[in-house]
Amino acid sequence: MCTPRCSLADIAPTISRILAIPMVVPDGCVINDVADHYIKHDCKRVVLIIADSLGFKLYHRYESIMPSVSSLVSQGLLMGCSSVERHTSPCIASIFSGYLPENHHIHSTEDIYRERAKNPENPKIKTILEWAYDAGFKSAVVIESEGAETFRERVDELHGVKNSEDIIDYDHRIIKSAINTLSNEPDLLAVHLRSIDRYAHRSIHGKELEEAIINTDTNIGQIIEHAEKGTLFLICGDHTIHGWEKWKLKATDEEIRNHNENVVALIVGCK
Ligand SMILES: [Zn+2]
Repeated sequence: MCTPRCSLADIAPTISRILAIPMVVPDGCVINDVADHYIKHDCKRVVLIIADSLGFKLYHRYESIMPSVSSLVSQGLLMGCSSVERHTSPCIASIFSGYLPENHHIHSTEDIYRERAKNPENPKIKTILEWAYDAGFKSAVVIESEGAETFRERVDELHGVKNSEDIIDYDHRIIKSAINTLSNEPDLLAVHLRSIDRYAHRSIHGKELEEAIINTDTNIGQIIEHAEKGTLFLICGDHTIHGWEKWKLKATDEEIRNHNENVVALIVGCK
């Protein structure tokens, strides 16, 4: 069912449409504005960046300290996109598969193996990266190592980064791998950055969160810099910020509504 506001489940079918990757039609719908943008700017490949916890209003609050992302927005699109859950794993599964959590049943990395064991052909747990690989496209993923392992022999390139207490260093290693991967010219690359989420949990004052936001923007800027001309960037959050009890004390009415509705940012831009 297509809703007026886009959903995280729309990202996979949109990538399927623009790169002409065949997939079983999932729950999500093609976001026509994104498809139009891709054609208008003569794009040829896609980089999908999940910036963990990048809520729609969080982006608005901090856009002035996110020059790389806001320069994409100034030439591209910024949309509010309905999230599907409050936790990372089911949201990322929806982004990658195009199905809602009640249909993909993925709430943790282990669930992927369990659902695959039940039915190896189940299209509801098959990601757009795997659909791409099966159709002869070059697809690559750079995420946390346990999640990356679920893609073994299912994509052209996978790079796992071990979880770390030092999340700034972790994201830095993600970016280094992503930049290396770009030199192999993938048709589709997916990357997950986690520092905003970790700092939202740990941060007592806004200052530390701002540092994570600046760091995320710098990292995204580096990927943009190393990507070839003709790359469409899709940058999205997975859910709104965690640790809401402390953040809501300083939140505006709009931010509170945005959190309750669980709307994340989806940024679309072409290099
Ligand atoms: Zn998350």
